[in-house]
Amino acid sequence: MNSAPDLKEVAAGVWAYIQPDGGWMVNNMGLVVGPNGATAIDATSTQRRMRSYLDAIAAATPAPVRRVVLTHSHPDHCNGLSLLPEAEVVAHRVAADELRQPHIPAAHIFEPYERGSVHARQPTIVFDDALTLDADARPIEVRHPGRPAHTQGDAYVWLADDGVLFAGDLVFSGGTPFALSGSPAGWVQTLEQLTRLQPAVVVPGHGPLGGPELLQPVADYLQFLTEVARDAHERGLTALQAAREADLGRFAGLLEPERIAGNLHRALADLDGTNVDFAAAWQDMYDYNGSRALEVHA
Ligand SMILES: [Zn+2]
Repeated sequence: MNSAPDLKEVAAGVWAYIQPDGGWMVNNMGLVVGPNGATAIDATSTQRRMRSYLDAIAAATPAPVRRVVLTHSHPDHCNGLSLLPEAEVVAHRVAADELRQPHIPAAHIFEPYERGSVHARQPTIVFDDALTLDADARPIEVRHPGRPAHTQGDAYVWLADDGVLFAGDLVFSGGTPFALSGSPAGWVQTLEQLTRLQPAVVVPGHGPLGGPELLQPVADYLQFLTEVARDAHERGLTALQAAREADLGRFAGLLEPERIAGNLHRALADLDGTNVDFAAAWQDMYDYNGSRALEVHA
């Protein structure tokens, strides 16, 4: 968890910025350099991390960052935006709504961390289905999956010519997928959609860089989650009861296993056709974690 972030060129003029260990508030970013400047994919959670990211970009290219595409509204992907005050901010319309009304966990849920003086910025360009940036150079396709998945307003970035997919949190690599603000069923369908792209390189929202082999394990976890939720629903268990009973099996080694409790809140709410109680979901993750604050290495 102490290893430094790595800006790795995955295609000519295309970089992935991978931040170990990929846990809570430690996400990955991307960078695409074109004739009209650079386009970043996502920002970071803290001032320190955002400064490191901008330093790494400056060392790699003289191109100014003119645009940031947000893969979704979660704070780890958006907080650092205020350090790019002039950049256009591109996001799905619902992500923009979510940024205006975030679900903020109670203060005791996470270990304290030093955010510094950064904050998210409101998108300056919103889209509904898809848009193509730099269409006359290297087309940067920004697409909404068409349904809720990791959140209600996800976007992924697809560079068809290079086979590079910036998946945001539609793909967790080595960490437990987190569906509290999305839809397990919609996410599984979205992973099928991403698989059909046949990407050569997949930049996950959290965890190590990989290829198409990163997609199926996420779907497998969501399938497991769905089965646990169906069983719990039949037996009338609460999310926390079901989480405590569940044998995580081959998923036990993923980072942040406590997400099972939050994920079950979403899956059970979907089965009941009700809204998620976010405060209760966060509290149940805390309780599942031995009534200890969730570890943050931000
Ligand atoms: Zn997220």
